[in-house]
Amino acid sequence: MIRAGRTFLDGSFRAAAVVVEGRTIADVVGPRDRVAKARSVLVPDDAVLLPGLVDSHVHVNEPGRTEWEGFRSATLAAAAGGVTTIVDMPLNSLPPTTTASALEIKRAVAAPSAYIDVGFWGGAVPDSLGALAPLHDAGVFGFKCFLSPSGVDEFPHLDRAQFLAAAEEIAALDSRLIVHAEDPALLHDHGALGRGYGAFLASRPPESEASAIDTVIDAARRTGCRAHILHLSDAHSLPAIRAAKAEGIALTVETCPHYLTIAAEEIPDGAAEFKCCPPIREAANQDLLWEGIVDGTIDAIVSDHSPSTIDLKRAGGGDFGLAWGGIAGLQVGLSAVWTEARSRGIPLERILPLFTTGPASVAGLEGLGVIEPGAPAHLTAFGVDDPLVIHAARLLHKNPITAYDRRVLTGRSRRTWLHGKSIYNVTEGGAGEAPRFRGNPRGRLLSAAHVRAGGSGDT
Ligand SMILES: [Zn+2]
Repeated sequence: MIRAGRTFLDGSFRAAAVVVEGRTIADVVGPRDRVAKARSVLVPDDAVLLPGLVDSHVHVNEPGRTEWEGFRSATLAAAAGGVTTIVDMPLNSLPPTTTASALEIKRAVAAPSAYIDVGFWGGAVPDSLGALAPLHDAGVFGFKCFLSPSGVDEFPHLDRAQFLAAAEEIAALDSRLIVHAEDPALLHDHGALGRGYGAFLASRPPESEASAIDTVIDAARRTGCRAHILHLSDAHSLPAIRAAKAEGIALTVETCPHYLTIAAEEIPDGAAEFKCCPPIREAANQDLLWEGIVDGTIDAIVSDHSPSTIDLKRAGGGDFGLAWGGIAGLQVGLSAVWTEARSRGIPLERILPLFTTGPASVAGLEGLGVIEPGAPAHLTAFGVDDPLVIHAARLLHKNPITAYDRRVLTGRSRRTWLHGKSIYNVTEGGAGEAPRFRGNPRGRLLSAAHVRAGGSGDT
């Protein structure tokens, strides 16, 4: 039994004891109830007990670019951040996950290394159109595509006609289409841009996102395909998203901690660790994104953890046009967003669904991100007032570079349980973070095919 004075149940905090049997939550009972033979763990009153977080947007890059990120380091970082399930993106690994055989290769390298549960997105690229069914049948949770160049040659983007064809095909499979929404016609992607952030920001204007989001909404309306907008940065697109949802279009949208907690105005010259696409925009835009969080338009907050080697981030000596785009933040998402939410007077319970049931639903993993009988016993104890200063070198993802370096945050996961087993405990171990992990990797690989067959997803 894990007892806590504040347990996140059905959207609010209550005193409760979570009864774990094997890998599953057997019951949720009163805080003083006793269960025969149960060993009891008490979560102190200055921490809350949460469902394990779900991050449906992570680039692990293994195999092929394992020097950028691998399953061992990514899942250790996730567990230390309270995350118990990630869904891996189909690009930046080699091969990209665009065929059933590529998925098999991914699964084979992930299986022995994953400290938490891992599912996989597939990719829809020009060559795979018309042939998405085998990858769907093999268990991906949906298909990612780009409307603009992806940054890697082996994962080309779709033009508008191809995009519409993909939406039709994915609708027929009853799967999901998740979209990097920037319109290439409105981007000024011309190599070197200099060390100032302003030129990079101007090269990817909000109109580019707005135009691509219109394309996504139009395709979802015409085909009935479930569509998801990845990493929304431009808040001026929120009215169109609200209207589409009100119209009944099957549309969801995510944003990321960096868009909610970092503003363009504060990014120093040459600091390419802040480069991502779409870009971090100005503070006024960030305020509007927060309105989209509070009013429920935005469904999920996910890391879009997309690391590379330090050399690639520093390519061009801090030139924002030449550096690799992608922010590493898998371990710090809830801490960063909670710190900002608190300063805005927004309660923790308002943002928690966006880290739990929201991303679970985006990926079709209903049943995750909740504390209730029958759910997998994925839990994290989060110290809501714990001071946390981020040091890139102490984070557990592979390459010690992050946009959050030296940020002063409030709140951190102290302990994480996966399938009922304590896997991470911040109070254990000596120097460094790695000793705080118990045992061998116990993460399971998730399959959408297994979910469709009525299973829990883990295979
Ligand atoms: Zn991404």
